[in-house]
Amino acid sequence: MRNLCKNKTPLLQPHPWDIVETEFAEETNLRMETIFSLGNGKIGIRGTFEEGFYGNPAQTAIGTYLNGIYEYRDYRYAWKRPGFPDRTHSMINLANGLLLSVYVDGEKVILSRNCITDYERRLDMKSGLLMRKFVWYSKKGKKIKIETERFVSMEHSDLIAISYRITPVNFSGEIEVVSQIDAEVKNEIERKPEIGSIDGIPTTIDKLVAGDAVSYVVQTTRKSNFRIGMAMSEFVEHAEILEEKHDVDCRYINHRRKLMAVQGESCVINKFVCLDGGKVLNEEKLVNSLESYQKKGYTVLREKHVWLWHRFWEVSDIRIDGDDALQQALRYDAFQLMQSAGKDGKTNIGANGLTGEGYQGHTFWDTEMYMLPFFLYTQPDEARELLMYRYYILPEAKRRAVQMDGCGALYSWNSINGEECGFVFEAATAQYHINADICYAIRKYMEATQDEEFLVCYGAEILFETSIFMVHRGCFVPLKGNQFCINVVCGPDEYTPVVDNNCYTNYLTKLQLSFAFQTAKWMEKEYPEQYEILKQRTGLDENEVNLWKKASDHMYIPYHKELDMLMQDDQYLYRDPVKIEDIPQEKLPLLTHLHPLNLWRCQVSKQADIVLLMYLRPNDFSMEMKKRVYDYYEPRTIHDSSLSVSIHSIVANDIGYEKEAYEYFMQAARMDLDDYNGNTSGGVHAACMGGTLLAILYGFAGMQICSGQLCFKPRIPEKWERYQFHVTFRRNRILIQVDHEMVTVFLKEVSGFEVSVYGEKASVQKNRICRWRSISLKRQEPSVENQ
Ligand code: BGC
Repeated sequence: MRNLCKNKTPLLQPHPWDIVETEFAEETNLRMETIFSLGNGKIGIRGTFEEGFYGNPAQTAIGTYLNGIYEYRDYRYAWKRPGFPDRTHSMINLANGLLLSVYVDGEKVILSRNCITDYERRLDMKSGLLMRKFVWYSKKGKKIKIETERFVSMEHSDLIAISYRITPVNFSGEIEVVSQIDAEVKNEIERKPEIGSIDGIPTTIDKLVAGDAVSYVVQTTRKSNFRIGMAMSEFVEHAEILEEKHDVDCRYINHRRKLMAVQGESCVINKFVCLDGGKVLNEEKLVNSLESYQKKGYTVLREKHVWLWHRFWEVSDIRIDGDDALQQALRYDAFQLMQSAGKDGKTNIGANGLTGEGYQGHTFWDTEMYMLPFFLYTQPDEARELLMYRYYILPEAKRRAVQMDGCGALYSWNSINGEECGFVFEAATAQYHINADICYAIRKYMEATQDEEFLVCYGAEILFETSIFMVHRGCFVPLKGNQFCINVVCGPDEYTPVVDNNCYTNYLTKLQLSFAFQTAKWMEKEYPEQYEILKQRTGLDENEVNLWKKASDHMYIPYHKELDMLMQDDQYLYRDPVKIEDIPQEKLPLLTHLHPLNLWRCQVSKQADIVLLMYLRPNDFSMEMKKRVYDYYEPRTIHDSSLSVSIHSIVANDIGYEKEAYEYFMQAARMDLDDYNGNTSGGVHAACMGGTLLAILYGFAGMQICSGQLCFKPRIPEKWERYQFHVTFRRNRILIQVDHEMVTVFLKEVSGFEVSVYGEKASVQKNRICRWRSISLKRQEPSVENQ
């Protein structure tokens, strides 16, 4: 196992429900802005301060995002070839509506080590609230206590709410409070030209309106023509307003208020920001919404928001007793996934969630393979919305197939609106496995929900169109015994692109084609009318459907006879052997340090590839085969992608390599909280977070679904006292607790169903608790007996 960042002391104090920062530090500000990001699937805001940041500008990246709102940029190629995308698009940074400044004798309250004490920032994940407090000293010795709280509403997708409490400690007198929207915030792409070509600021400011109560700004993206509106208003409590003025200048809306502050008494400014955007914008609706929130008031809105978070945890919490740092990480991972996931069937989850502009807000296969399963077994409706996004962008996938001289549909490797943005085609478009990944997710969704309506109305069309593409992308090769081969592809391992017959791609495509065939046959019988319509729409005929079966049955799976082992692809084993422990740390990640020709010729994997297949299909391969595959590929994997370690943990658990399983897991769990990769400042690693949660379910708890039944083989690492999690499956919800003595299963919702633990079945019923003796790594007794 490569020497990863194990034994690092946590950068943040372990706490089961909170993330706490006790010192204001300029040097870590950029990273902490990511960590303290808030969102609700539509809006994302980075953890910037209401007062602004006055340190090194490189240490801040103000961020306000709307999921699905982007701007185009043209690609410039030295030599543009057919099928190369003309342009890319990036999630853009919108106006900053969080600003709120306090002036004492004309001096602005700012955060700086020289003038503040008693600083604390706390993210309460249980309630979805971000709180902050500090004491500020003016140059004249006046002292003021500030306490803030903010949330991005889970109830109202367009609402950000802030409560700002000011308490003069040693004086009474006039203070000024200025609430603002800054409509001219820079995007990372403008700040760092090296990450892409800039075609100017992405939005125009169309309107800045200062109203008596509500003020707002309207902006339009220059090329993609999105209209975005942000409105703000405040409500002042417990202070006399001496003077009030609302005005605008070329980029700011200002609400200025002079207040009479009384020593020891707190006045509160409740600020509401409403944010919306789309191809059309209803300004009136924006203003009306804000007014309605104002009427409801901060406390009522907060209460419902907190309730919704509590409800989320009721079905989604993974609890670990005995390791607070890990507990904190697991909750943080679930929290960020929930905050980032689009909930309207038209938006998805970017690789960095809604926490930063890394990966330009693009969605990858990360969603289906790493994040969607978390939702599937906790909130299946959310998993459906994520799949509906794929249906929504299906027309783009069909256009992409044509651009690639194919038929049917090919999903883009990275995108927001469905158009391919990946310009390194060998590791983007060549990852055809994205089609199979989406179909795999549909299959898992169906297995867990039996939602026929989804399959008939949406899923089948995705399945058929992508299968049409794949079956014509490959061919039956005579010298390979007429088996179906898919050549010149890139599997998940982006360090070995342009290979023939990537095992993962071929295997998942085999499953996809067989699922498509079965679905076609089932629809023909059960839903003949809808099947006919679909046949017309997709141009499908019986020959095509039979071809899926033939290709699936005769799929070529690369295998090395002497080694008796599956091969990652046709070439991997014959490439230059490399000892990855000899690669110096400063050469990592290899992608940015080696010419592609020097990288591609080596037996070095960026991330789990064939090992990922062993996790997805544990029962299709013998234990010996899984071990051989892991033993060969694991030492050749450098984990330059954050998607790698969690999968290694799951497979290591499966094959009994408990120590490695635990170490890999710990590497995944706190990747962002402890900034293992040094790039958390650009946004969280959403797939790694999803992978961590899966490592509990599939790894430690050994969850599998065998013939439609939930099965578990839980193990508990020495350090943990107990762990528990919920699984929602076919409308039932169970709670599983594992400690060093017992595995206990409780039914939480619906009538009851059968589960299997260590191969022993039991019917979980209301008021009946099922128990098994657990495999404890502390007891070191592998034998198990049903109680
Ligand atoms: C990984 C991909 C992943 C992408 C976005 C890349 O570094 O190799 O597998 O989809 O990051 O997370």
